Parts: sequence; C-alpha cells; structure tokens
Amino acid sequence: MAKKGKTAINPTREENYPAWYQQIIKAADMAENSDVRGCMVIKPWGYSIWENIQKSLDEMFKETGHVNAYFPLFIPKSFFEKEAEHVEGFAKECAVVTHSRLEDDGKGGLKPAGKLTEELIIRPTSETIIGASFSKWINSYRDLPLLINQWANVVRWELRTRLFLRTTEFLWQEGHTAHETKEEAITETFKILDIYARFAEEFLAIPVIKGKKTESEKFPGAVSTYTFEAMMQDKKALQAGTSHFLGQNFAKASDIKYQGKDGKEEFVWTSSWGVSTRLIGALIMAHADDNGLVLPPKIAPAQIAIIPIYRNDEQQKEVLNFIDKLRNKIKPLRYFENKIRIELDDRDPTGGEKVWHWIKKGIPIRLEIGPRDIQHNSVFMGRRDKNPNEKESVNVDEFINNLTEILDEIQNNIFQKALKFREKNIVKIDDKAEFYKFFTPQNKKNPEIHGGFAFSQWCENPDCEEQIKTDLKVSIRCIPLDSTKEEGKCIYCGNKSNKRVIFAKSY
Ligand SMILES: [Zn+2]
Repeated sequence: MAKKGKTAINPTREENYPAWYQQIIKAADMAENSDVRGCMVIKPWGYSIWENIQKSLDEMFKETGHVNAYFPLFIPKSFFEKEAEHVEGFAKECAVVTHSRLEDDGKGGLKPAGKLTEELIIRPTSETIIGASFSKWINSYRDLPLLINQWANVVRWELRTRLFLRTTEFLWQEGHTAHETKEEAITETFKILDIYARFAEEFLAIPVIKGKKTESEKFPGAVSTYTFEAMMQDKKALQAGTSHFLGQNFAKASDIKYQGKDGKEEFVWTSSWGVSTRLIGALIMAHADDNGLVLPPKIAPAQIAIIPIYRNDEQQKEVLNFIDKLRNKIKPLRYFENKIRIELDDRDPTGGEKVWHWIKKGIPIRLEIGPRDIQHNSVFMGRRDKNPNEKESVNVDEFINNLTEILDEIQNNIFQKALKFREKNIVKIDDKAEFYKFFTPQNKKNPEIHGGFAFSQWCENPDCEEQIKTDLKVSIRCIPLDSTKEEGKCIYCGNKSNKRVIFAKSY
C-alpha cells in the first residue's frame, strides 16, 4: 500500500508507476472509465488538451496543403476484405454491426431485429472506405496529389484498456493521401513524420526518435511504417504516432487509378498517417511528477491560474478589482499567436487547497494575490517547472513584461528535463548477457522500473527479434533514421550486423 508521504500523488512513480498514472488522471480530473467497458469519458480538462493538440496539428497540416473531410463510421465488410494483410491485422479487434433495430422480446426486454444483408464494421481505421471515395474522385493526373485528413473516432476492441493509452474507442486524426509517383508518396510519408516529431518536441515538449518499423511491427497492409518513439518516466517506449507508405496496395484493393500525362492508366501511390488521444497519455507519462500533472504552456488548457486571497468582503472587492486590471494588461499579449489563457479560481476554499488544486492540474503559472501583494503592486508567483514551495514575489509590470519569456522558459525547462532523462537512459549495449540483465528486474514479484532504451546491433533476422520479444517482452521500437552504418554483431545471434536499432519495453 502507498505510504502517506509528502507528495500530493500517492503512490509515487517509484512506488507503483501504473497506479501513479491512474492517480494523476484522477487528481487532474482529466478522464474516467465509463460504464461501457474499455471506453473512457474525457472530462473538460483532458478534452481541452485534446482541443489544443487538434488546433496546433490542424494548422500544421493545412500549412502543408492538406484539407479536412469526413467519411462514414461504418465500413461494409466487403470493403474491409479487399486488402488481405489489412484484414488479418485488424480482424481480431473489430466491432461488427449485424442488426438495424430492436424489437420487443416478449419478456419485457428488447432483442435485435432487422438483420443486415451485409454486416458493417465500425472503423478501426479508414483506408478502405476512404479508398472507395478516392477511386471516384481521382480520374486524371490533374486530380493529384489528393491530400485529405479526417478528425474522427475509431474503435478497436481491446481487452486490456488504460485511460488515454489504450481504449476501445479513441479519438484521432487520420491522413490519407494519393500521389502520381512512388517518390512523391514517400516524400509525403516523411513530411508528415517530420511534422509529428516537430509537434511532439515543440508543443508537447517530448523528445522523440524518428525511425522505421521492422517488418513485424509495421501497419497491416503498408509497404513501410515510420514511427516516432518517446521515452516515458518508467523508461518504457511509447509509439506516439505513425506514418505509412502504402505503395499501391490499397490503390489496387480499392481500384484507385488515374490517367497519366501520356494517356496511360496507372494505379496511384498512397500514404496514411495518424496520431490519437494517446498523445495525452504520453504527455502525462513524460512530464507529470509526484505532485501531479505538469503541462507545457503551449498545450495547457490555461497557462495561468489566479488565486485571490482575502479575509472579508472589503478585501475581496479590492483583490478582485486588482485582478481585473491585471487581466486587462495580459489581454493584449500573445503567446505563439494565441491569447494567454487564464483561470480565475474564486471558489470558496482556503488558498492552500486551491494552490494544490492547480499544482495537481499541471498549470504552468500560479499567482496568489492578496491585500499585501496589492500594497506592493506585485503578484506571488509559483511555477510548475519549479518546486511547489519555491515562490517569488514579482512586481506586476515586471511580470507582464516578462510573461511570454517566462512561459518559454517553462516550456523549454520541461523539454530539457525529459531530454536529459532520455539521454541518461539510452545505453549502447554490445554484450548479450548485459542486454538481458538490463531488461530483467531484480524483484520478479513486484518488478521495479528497469532498463531503458538499448541501442544495439541487429542482424535483420526476424527470428532474433522474435526471441528477444519472447524472452524479455522487449521489442525493436525502430531503426532510427539517423542511425549510421556501423559494423558489429547481432546482440542475439552474434552474426554480422551493420546497424544499431532501439530495443525497449513498450506501451
Ligand atoms: Zn541476429
């Protein structure tokens, strides 16, 4: 059981990481399990983070020529059957609609009736249904490239679920593009991977490694899958999103053809790519600490929480008046082209409780303002990138003048902390025994946080990859794009190898 310590979140990361994760979500009031097994209710604080993710990414997609559209939730089974690998990959987690209405069952309940002539799959991903539209929309080379994105929900029937990380229904965006040539489709795949990685690092403050998935880990139906992987604070990897080069596989399955400049009919080349509400799970596990959530200012629902402190009606009036003026001074300021978002916490409880409320919610800046601060024309500031007790009195004008710089500093400090943690826990390992020791916890009954990312040689034989997975539950997360050629020996079989890959336990 958790000890009653001095932290706001119990248990701590060290004591029980999975339980700590649940407690962070609860304390920050971000989401909860629903009455529908495996599905989550995203509460306003969590949803607001998703809205900020959407807004920033959507801008990046549009700046690179993509447009949004919307396709049906249901996919006819026959569509789904068209791409064999795709079917195999998703068949085990499909929700299937078989009936269209309910009837009185004669026992006071209802029974499904109106059996459908063709079953419908609730989309786990939309390559096949969007492919059907693309085949109608694309006729000539003039219709290419076609660069479509969809913001939607998808369903993948999961047995073991965890808020934000793995849920039966989740929110995401899926991009689907069609191109004249193979090279253009590959360029698109990398362009999106770069956007994702930039978004993760600059907005979520999560350092990521871009790389290629091995054959066994790639998307069902893709020619190649690219990923960006992040290290969580339990040193496990999290696949934060993927970008797939689909070759002509889906074009052939959905009959997407165009007439080229030479009059010849050809299949298009396609890509698809997606990130989901899983990014919120990544955000929590990369930055939150034993006192609660830690939010990078660029993605936080609000950057500042103001906590008024007063003892009587007269003071209340004076303090709220002062806060009003302060808010008016902040209003014209812009942080990365956006207004600075403020939460004024004028609820009843005492100051101390409210301060901890906002620490647990991860708000970047807390301002406590009482009659004494007003006398000195100052605010009492606490920052989420610092110790909860490390607060300082700052002159109001100085605060206003430096505000965007302070936010930048917090954003950067959060990123640097995560980067340092990752650098410390990526280890080059060339010895098999050392590799096995690295990933084996000492305490089998209650496995402690162990290992990290091993940067080791691999001979490209899938059997070696499979054996390591069986022995240690460790997989090849990716072949980093910047991994240079280096002669060596496969960490498992000792055969000749010429590059290092990232091995890790993962979510
Ligand atoms: Zn090998």
